Amino acid sequence: MKRALIIGAGIGGLTAAIALAQRGWAVHIFERSAALGDVGAGLQQSPNAMAVHQALGTAEAIKAVACEPEAAILRDYKTGKPLMTSPMVGIYEARYGHKYLHIHRADLIAILAKRAETLGVTVHFDHEVEEAQQIGEILNIIAGQRNYTGDVLIGADGIKSVLRPMISENSQPRFSRQVAWRGVVPTHQLPDDFIPFAANNWLGPRRHFVSYYIRGGTLINFVAVEERSDWASEDWNVPADKVELAQAFSGWDERVTRLIAACETPYLWGLFDHAPLKKWSQGAMTLLGDAAHPMLPFMAQGASMAIEDGWVLAACLAERPEAIPEALMRYEARRKPRTTLLQNISRRNGALYHMRAGPSRFWRNTKFKIGSQFPPAVFATLDKIYKVDVTRNDPSA
Ligand code: FAD
Repeated sequence: MKRALIIGAGIGGLTAAIALAQRGWAVHIFERSAALGDVGAGLQQSPNAMAVHQALGTAEAIKAVACEPEAAILRDYKTGKPLMTSPMVGIYEARYGHKYLHIHRADLIAILAKRAETLGVTVHFDHEVEEAQQIGEILNIIAGQRNYTGDVLIGADGIKSVLRPMISENSQPRFSRQVAWRGVVPTHQLPDDFIPFAANNWLGPRRHFVSYYIRGGTLINFVAVEERSDWASEDWNVPADKVELAQAFSGWDERVTRLIAACETPYLWGLFDHAPLKKWSQGAMTLLGDAAHPMLPFMAQGASMAIEDGWVLAACLAERPEAIPEALMRYEARRKPRTTLLQNISRRNGALYHMRAGPSRFWRNTKFKIGSQFPPAVFATLDKIYKVDVTRNDPSA
């Protein structure tokens, strides 16, 4: 039986583990945290991600706790009036074969971890991987002061990957001059129908604010993004100063300011970007998810790309398990064009959302109006992302 070692029990690592275990591999994940978990935050799971969940056996559990938005609504930041409304419920499922859902990250992680456990995957908590090397065909890692060996080593260890410099250029992610606050508010603390059951996105100069329901509608999630010049903290995310958050969005639509006021503990993220890596793999070591292609969150596709990576990687390894380095090359060749496309779209969306007043913003809002009245204009871009089902035509599934 082939043995896979995975660094990181995040969304990408757990997905790869399930997909490999489904194909008969013995899988060990090494996670530096003491337990699974995630700070309160929501995550959008688009139809391309749901296609993989269907194949992993996690789709039904996700549907049971997630929320399906009725529409995507882009709004003016001050008046809150819709600039564009694009219906989603029913329409996405009919067009793409799967729903578009909003879920709490902790719920998604718990569902993936349970499925992995059922399939016999071992997760070693409190095991930070510090060293890795390949000797002949055998991979060695040191984690939790012990040595482990395997046939393939997968770095699913996020944007600050320890494996990336051992495989590719030793480059650091670049601060994008943007930060994101994330928070959740219990729905019962707010008036009924406080925001529509939709993906709401308020667009303002140098800032935007996204909000939607999660956990069966019992929580409202928000992500508030602001452009700024520096990121002083060494940490990736830190408990945030509520006053600073309120100041950044003061004068916005009342729904935005009330949500901020109602949130007990928002967290602050520095948003980092990275040019596409020259290579993701070396011998029998490879990368996936944010370790391979960190992207800005403005198309909400980072986790979805990690999920697709996990599936495609397992499929490539299962095609010819006796030739792992070649399988990793095939995986990289299949994934890189798509993840590079999403890195670019995400970057572009940031600029589109944050336009200052002027002719460009006027033109943008006109296009939004056309998009509301003529949906095919919107689907031209979305089809490229959501129509892809990486599990189709996969002989190993
Ligand atoms: P991670 O989730 O970062 O997991 C890495 C894991 O590796 C962690 O558990 C970490 O503890 C562990 N680890 C790290 N180093 C080591 C080590 N040396 N040894 C052992 N373990 C280690 N994506 C979406 O698809 N939809 C969204 O709506 C969305 N919204 C977002 C909003 C914001 C504000 C941000 C910042 C991101 C958003 N994303 C979204 C992106 C998404 O969160 C990431 O792309 C995704 O979590 C990447 O998953 P991953 O498994 O690659 O890495």
